[in-house]
Amino acid sequence: MGYIQVLDDLVSNQIAAGEVVERPASVVKELIENAMDAEAQRIIIRITGGGMTSIEVVDDGFGIAADEVELAFIRHATSKLRSIDDLRKIHSLGFRGEALPSISSVSNVVVRTREKDQESGVQLQFRGGLLTKREEVGCPVGTRMMITDLFYNTPARLKFVRSLQTEAGHVVDVVSRAAAARPDLAFVVESDGKGNLETPGDGMLTSVFASVYGVPTTKSALAISLDHPDYVIRGLISLPEYSKSTRNAMWFSINGRPIRSLALGNAILVGYYTTLPKGRYPIVMINMTMDPNLVDVNVHPSKLEVRFSEEKDVRDLLVRAVKEALQAGFAPPFVNTPESRVWEETPVREIVSSYPETAFKAPSYVHAPAISSAKQVSDAQLAMVLQEPAATVVEPRGPQITAQAIRKGQIRAIAQALQMYIVAQDGESVYLIDQHAAHERVLYEKFRQSFQERGKFSLPLLVAITIDLRAHEVQILGKYADKAQAFGLVYERFGDTSIVVREIPHIWEGLDVHRLVNDFLTDLLEERDLDSMLKMEDRLIMRACKAAIKANQTLSIMEMNALLDALSTLENPFTCPHGRPTAVILSRQQLEREFKRSL
Ligand code: ADP
Ligand code: MG
Repeated sequence: MGYIQVLDDLVSNQIAAGEVVERPASVVKELIENAMDAEAQRIIIRITGGGMTSIEVVDDGFGIAADEVELAFIRHATSKLRSIDDLRKIHSLGFRGEALPSISSVSNVVVRTREKDQESGVQLQFRGGLLTKREEVGCPVGTRMMITDLFYNTPARLKFVRSLQTEAGHVVDVVSRAAAARPDLAFVVESDGKGNLETPGDGMLTSVFASVYGVPTTKSALAISLDHPDYVIRGLISLPEYSKSTRNAMWFSINGRPIRSLALGNAILVGYYTTLPKGRYPIVMINMTMDPNLVDVNVHPSKLEVRFSEEKDVRDLLVRAVKEALQAGFAPPFVNTPESRVWEETPVREIVSSYPETAFKAPSYVHAPAISSAKQVSDAQLAMVLQEPAATVVEPRGPQITAQAIRKGQIRAIAQALQMYIVAQDGESVYLIDQHAAHERVLYEKFRQSFQERGKFSLPLLVAITIDLRAHEVQILGKYADKAQAFGLVYERFGDTSIVVREIPHIWEGLDVHRLVNDFLTDLLEERDLDSMLKMEDRLIMRACKAAIKANQTLSIMEMNALLDALSTLENPFTCPHGRPTAVILSRQQLEREFKRSL
């Protein structure tokens, strides 16, 4: 009896559709990519019922040859790729030849297209992937795709579709991201007859920014402009006051292709560090161009995730660029008063920072030695540490008064010493605060709190992260998968040498998951008896803590004060989680004695 059969085309296309076509927005994404590949200048997208009733994409591109339209709807039919070599230098957005057959396998499609040198066009209809009608028609040059009854034959897919508004929102989002990646193209989106987005296609990123976020936000946006021998970066970032509550407004593109990158997002956040309140994220549009050889786009069927060889370089550059743009943007920088810190910023239109070649050398924090080699603390140790304030107070007034000063946020930074210590004062004493220890304390408290509040709940990743490892590492992670899952780290095996991370502990939000998983793995490999849950929790938290500011990292007064403020909210500001002191305090009396001013 034959059990093994080759799937028929409809079934295999529907399976592919499961990967490529998740919701109306994914259909729109594929269709506008095709339009862009066809060199369209203007792309109009009309949807009704959130795209579930109909999706229409009209472009003025070069069209499809009349005798090739049917071919375009066959799996792995593409005009963009001939050999695997082409993949390495791919310039077009599509290349898998999967979108049209996938879409048509789960909907009704009417395609109308005309090539430039043709007098008339053709119109074809497909239902469930099968050609039902073909005729010659009069139509403008370009292509019009009309999709109706999406998912009519795949009820399981339908279940994943949210409210029509939500779906419409995703469609607008997808088009806006494409528009940001290609300011030279004009996009129009209409939902149920109402205009939702219109970009002029004048080549200006500011125009796209204004179309998406409005003029006031745009006027205050800061421009980033970096030229490197290997890549060019252009972007706009918002002032902190225009921040959002999610990461969704941080957009990146490489070579005109919108991408998602947690790493780049994190770099931006590091650049904004301390200028944004907790849980707030900036609006960012960053476009990069680089040699396609340096980018691998074939990581995921929807092509959103990319790998590029100089990611770390780009990350470091972004951190710097954001910092410098923000610093330049706050002009005059800020006025320090004991009660409140006020900075007056003038709206800045185009602050273009250019960087000398030396700026490309790794910034100091990248190579800063990790100074906390102390062993990690258990809950019991922590409880002990929490009881005794270990701030070294070198004078008889005792810790209480000075402790209150820190708690009330009365101390203000005046300088940074040795790139390691914050020099601060209130009216009475001088404080030397170890920036790394202090930040570790702040992070640790924050993480522990969020861990306790949100318990074991994890944060599902929008785009799962694939991590390449060695076979034995994958095995070890496999062994601990259940335990890790109990603390919110959800991953699964993906072949013999990689894992896919789907959810992360809340405390890892905004941090480099790649690195954290690798660190976690190192812990597992080094220590055989990682069996107690408590240890596991500590590992996850402590790993996050390692993200603290390092010694040898230059901080601005603003950053230092933000750190002091954060410290002031803690119950125990005086020790880092390893029990080392965070602050050394010199009182006025102590100083008077030292200088023989008093008896
Ligand atoms: P891919 O984009 O990966 O090549 P698709 O299934 O999306 O695969 O499209 C198949 C082919 O159909 C494309 O390679 C292209 O030749 C043609 N095509 C699709 N849409 C358009 C369009 N809007 N304008 C011109 N050609 C198109
Ligand atoms: Mg395509």
